[in-house]
Amino acid sequence: MVVVSSDERKPLSGQPSDQRTRPTSPHTPVAGHGHSIPIGRIAGIPIRLHWTFWFLVALVVIVDWSAGRRAVAAGLAWIVALFASVVAHEIAHCLVARQRGARVLGIVLIPLGGLSRLESMPTEPDDELAVAIAGPLTSIALGAVLIGVALLSGQHVWPPTLFTGGWWARLGWLNMLLGAFNLLPALPMDGGRVLRASLARHRTNLEATLLAGRIARYIGVAMVVVGFVYDIWLILIGMFVLMGARAEEEAARHPPDHSDHHGHEAPGPRT
Ligand SMILES: [Zn+2]
Repeated sequence: MVVVSSDERKPLSGQPSDQRTRPTSPHTPVAGHGHSIPIGRIAGIPIRLHWTFWFLVALVVIVDWSAGRRAVAAGLAWIVALFASVVAHEIAHCLVARQRGARVLGIVLIPLGGLSRLESMPTEPDDELAVAIAGPLTSIALGAVLIGVALLSGQHVWPPTLFTGGWWARLGWLNMLLGAFNLLPALPMDGGRVLRASLARHRTNLEATLLAGRIARYIGVAMVVVGFVYDIWLILIGMFVLMGARAEEEAARHPPDHSDHHGHEAPGPRT
């Protein structure tokens, strides 16, 4: 769901230190090299599991334990299906980013979703928009295909449900939700990046980021408030948005100077 920056600040090898990409962030807590294990590679992009992911696995086992071994297996299978969907979403971001000249370091899976780590991020509005929109569009397309498969195999697809009913239908709606939720215009989520890129067509990057950041803050606060009533995950995502939007604003206020090697704030995670 999200993309965080990396701790490497070298200019892209083989390319001039250009204006199309900016080096990305040092030491984001979730993007560290040492706290995740490799689980595979798709299109040359390494995928890693962050250590906090095991809390999610433990949570599923604990919650389903009393319902028996089959319930635990079903819960874990759902986690695998969910994160396969997240990987498809992230791979789409990464492939478009790579096509637009960014160097992709890999994808890290955390309990809240996925983080794509890029050595540099596109700063041209068109590039940012293309990279940001690729994930949600892929999720929505995948969701449509899965719901089609569910229909063909005779499963009920309406009303939408994530936790009961046929697997194809559940997985289809999950991907739809993944796409739609990430389109919320809240930096650093995909929709927030699309918004910022659209605003930046007629403004400076800083103005566009500050405006998008203000909108993100309203949405982040709303998520936390609603989360207290409905769902703890929403609180976590709201906090993630608040911190990420702030990091984006800081990064826009202090654009990296290619001529020196001083650190700069992380352009925050990105969905
Ligand atoms: Zn995304």
